[in-house]
Amino acid sequence: MAGERIRSIVVVGGGTAGWMSIAALAKVLGRDYAEIVLVESDAIGTVGVGEATIPQIGTFNRLLGLDENDFVRRTKGTFKLGIEFVGWGKPDTRYFHPFGKYGIDMEGVSFHAFWERLSAEPQFSDVASFSLMALAARNRKFMRPIDAGNSPLSSIAYAFHFDAGLYARYLREISEGLGVRRIEGKIVDVLRDPESGHIASVQLENGSQVAGDLFIDCSGFRGLLIGETLGVPYVDWSAHLPCNRALAGPCTSIDDLTPFTRSTARKAGWQWRIPLQHRIGNGHVYCSEFISDDEAAHILMSNLDGEPMAEPRLIKFTTGNRQRFWEGNCVAVGLASGFMEPLESTSIWMVQNGIARLLSNFPDRRFADATRDRYNRLMAEETEYIRDFLVLHYCLNERTDSAFWEYCRNMELPERLAEKIRVFQATGRCFRENEELFNDTSWFAVMLGQGLEFDRFDPVAELLSLEETRGRLAHIQKAIANSADYMPSHRQFIAENCAAV
Ligand SMILES: Cc1cc2nc3c(=O)[nH]c(=O)nc-3n(C[C@H](O)[C@H](O)[C@H](O)COP(=O)(O)OP(=O)(O)OC[C@H]3O[C@@H](n4cnc5c(N)ncnc54)[C@H](O)[C@@H]3O)c2cc1C
Repeated sequence: MAGERIRSIVVVGGGTAGWMSIAALAKVLGRDYAEIVLVESDAIGTVGVGEATIPQIGTFNRLLGLDENDFVRRTKGTFKLGIEFVGWGKPDTRYFHPFGKYGIDMEGVSFHAFWERLSAEPQFSDVASFSLMALAARNRKFMRPIDAGNSPLSSIAYAFHFDAGLYARYLREISEGLGVRRIEGKIVDVLRDPESGHIASVQLENGSQVAGDLFIDCSGFRGLLIGETLGVPYVDWSAHLPCNRALAGPCTSIDDLTPFTRSTARKAGWQWRIPLQHRIGNGHVYCSEFISDDEAAHILMSNLDGEPMAEPRLIKFTTGNRQRFWEGNCVAVGLASGFMEPLESTSIWMVQNGIARLLSNFPDRRFADATRDRYNRLMAEETEYIRDFLVLHYCLNERTDSAFWEYCRNMELPERLAEKIRVFQATGRCFRENEELFNDTSWFAVMLGQGLEFDRFDPVAELLSLEETRGRLAHIQKAIANSADYMPSHRQFIAENCAAV
């Protein structure tokens, strides 16, 4: 049936989610498919955090045709090879969760199986020596991958740290260049079609109305359309992810320009450190049931590398997600759809994922139930996989310094996660399930880093003789060490390619 296509799309909200959504929609749908507008309120503003990413953001930037150096320069960004976790097992332990893979899989078997078999041998015990990302991060090195055959330099996996405000501004410029219209104003009412219950228009404070066929709710935590208007409930995950507040504040830069995010466990939560070119972003994520805001602020301010540049800003949240991400003619993206806390920098990816899935399940004005149901199922599965991965960090702690960590150690686990832990303990195996975001390297890095022990290694590793395994591991280790030596420093790479003006 012809003539049912979406003619107008209204994006509500101009934070990272709003501008990412509208830029992608405008780029993919082009100028003539539908009128695309974004409504945002300068008075309300944005959440203003969200500065660490994962490698998938490169795909999004490429979709928009961004020049990467220009993007890093304009957002005063830096590069990221993974996350360093400090004090998450016991207070004096640290480990690195690198992007990419450890070593190379051999004979169809995951590399970590072979490593587990030899992990007691001192020359192989440092698992970081099998990841170029981990080794380069340790040595503050960075470069983009090059075409170098089998060399580890061909498969450098990286993401970015950037200034969230500058990123939104950059995307706004791109979106406006693609023909979208921005309307500034506070939405004071949302009008619904009496028959279908769909959203018909949003009404602004000045009395004007903005009507549309499809609404993208990027209004932040409040979920103005999906929650307040359509009444889609919020599924609360606090029992598994109890942190519910963050204090965020920048400090001045120091010489150590780390190509990684650092997450340091604190008494009742953890502190992030995100290096940008012009400042370091810091924040303390914590659970208000175990620590006061004042104490949390004191912990943050006592643990900054540079001089504080502003008073810390308090952000309250509840971890969880909407029972349905898409309801009627409204799709929630970004914080309006849920928030899992920033431990593994997954929220901006969830925005990207939400838009990609919307585009591949794009509706017409009939809004088929089947399309919406599929979208909701895929998004829910995706978030549950991520939730389990985040919970893994908390539940495996060995800290004895507070009731918070004790709670996390003893909390009931989602069954799929409990099974993953049992399988690793029994066999040293870990898997990437279906289309989940985090691969076996990620699961392995965190399980091992958190001190989870395995009774025996994967028996399939015995496909290779011990001697052969030793030889191959030594070869991989050497190739990675040589590659790390070859790389320029992170600071030098930025200075030569993408220094902010
Ligand atoms: C403490 C913390 C740390 C985080 N760190 C990371 C990280 O490191 N990496 C990562 O990937 N993600 C991170 N995130 C998540 C990330 O910040 C968000 O995913 C991202 O910023 C998207 O936010 P948003 O656009 O959905 O909401 P917001 O930035 O809150 O934007 C909401 C928009 O809606 C508009 N609006 C609201 N109500 C109205 C109204 N009535 N009328 C008109 N306009 C309205 C506002 O003006 C604003 O433009 C973090 C989040 C928090 C809370």
